[in-house]
Amino acid sequence: MQFSNDNATICALSTPPGVGAIGVIRVSGPEAIGLCDQLFSGKLSEAKGYTVKYGRFERNGHTIDDVLMTVFRAPRSFTGEDVVEIACHGSSYIRQAIVESLIGAGCRMARQGEFTFRAFMNGKMDLSQAEAVADLIAAESEGAHRLAMHQMRGGFSKEIGALRQQLIDFASLIELELDFAEEDVEFADRSKLDHLVHEINRALTRLIDSFKTGNAVKNGVPVAIVGKPNAGKSTLLNALLNEERAIVSDIPGTTRDTVEDSVIVEGIRFRFIDTAGLRETEDAIEKIGVERSRAAIRQSAVLIYLFDVNETAAEELASILEALHQESEGATVIAIGNKVDLAAAGDHPSEKYPKETLFISAKGRLGLERLIEALLGAVELGKVDANSTVVTNLRHFEALTKAHASLMEVKNGLLSGITGDFLAIDLRRALHHLGEITGEISSDDLLGNIFGKFCIGK
Ligand code: GDP
Repeated sequence: MQFSNDNATICALSTPPGVGAIGVIRVSGPEAIGLCDQLFSGKLSEAKGYTVKYGRFERNGHTIDDVLMTVFRAPRSFTGEDVVEIACHGSSYIRQAIVESLIGAGCRMARQGEFTFRAFMNGKMDLSQAEAVADLIAAESEGAHRLAMHQMRGGFSKEIGALRQQLIDFASLIELELDFAEEDVEFADRSKLDHLVHEINRALTRLIDSFKTGNAVKNGVPVAIVGKPNAGKSTLLNALLNEERAIVSDIPGTTRDTVEDSVIVEGIRFRFIDTAGLRETEDAIEKIGVERSRAAIRQSAVLIYLFDVNETAAEELASILEALHQESEGATVIAIGNKVDLAAAGDHPSEKYPKETLFISAKGRLGLERLIEALLGAVELGKVDANSTVVTNLRHFEALTKAHASLMEVKNGLLSGITGDFLAIDLRRALHHLGEITGEISSDDLLGNIFGKFCIGK
């Protein structure tokens, strides 16, 4: 999909399709006000920005609907252009007729994400803010909403912009030296550069590390529950779903042998996947189940291994945990001993097993608080406070990681005393990657990729 910055006036339905009380059609571009005026019984041409006009939307002398038209004058609009938002009754016939009339009058149908694309091109927001618009619309939990809002308001962009500016200042001093190569001058103080690179890399590392949490907050934390049959997995899942402070929701697309349920705790969505288990088996159907469990384990950020304290000995647990660590590729593994209520009096399971093991009675709902704390701990929620920037976007994470690597090259170069021209190359590379985040540096492919994920009308 190609985005071009043509001068067309574009229109699209911006509310969801389907019947609603009202629908909103957005029109943006140099002719927005004039085109709408032609189809409106009222008068728009004199209307000031941020005013609403009531009247009839008419086509060939027929009234299509009574509508409200909100006028935004460039540059004070979402896109930075003249914009009219037409609020009509939400019937699909009316909406369609209005869009058709607008196109008949000279509008072009907007492409996916084109309104936000224009906002970006007109400097109303940078790329990371535009991406946050999509995140905000998709946010389903308080945590995801908070992070998207922070990013949309420009918190992240500001932080990246400030780091980038400091580097630009230094890079230009070094490039200036290159112009005076014959004279062997040093405009850019090397020890100051070293200090700056150190500071920036510290900031980058913090941002890079925040991605684990940011991703968890935005997309939910996949938690696989593994254990032998009858260990109490379903009982545990039900107990978690019934926790008072948890909100339950269903996730569509549940497969036959992995059940997925999600729970929001303290603003974070945990997606629990009850797996079929990992037993060696010859049964073809069960084999498929085991394969799916393996896949669920590989994708999970947290792995709960649930065992019956009355059935599983410490040695067996140790070897199972070992195997799971290998299978899970870096997920946090939490061992949980269940059915403590059945353990003989005076027999404390905690003495038999490794000290990180948690003990619960899923049926009696004992010990669940500790389990929830452990889950929150696994996503390192402590690192997020309301004002800190948290990276939620894989593209940003990758650009930050590359910027960090380029700055490590600068640091190494300073240590080994390389010449200014090499330093300049690494500095430029770091600047390039930071610029990719906010969109100072962008390509058609990148823009197509980002805005193509939006729906029409956004
Ligand atoms: P799954 O096969 O791992 O999903 O195990 P289930 O959740 O179906 O539980 C198997 C059996 O263990 C059921 O009869 C449960 O009622 C029982 N059970 C689960 N948790 C506990 C517990 O904490 N204490 C006791 N006494 N029984 C439990």
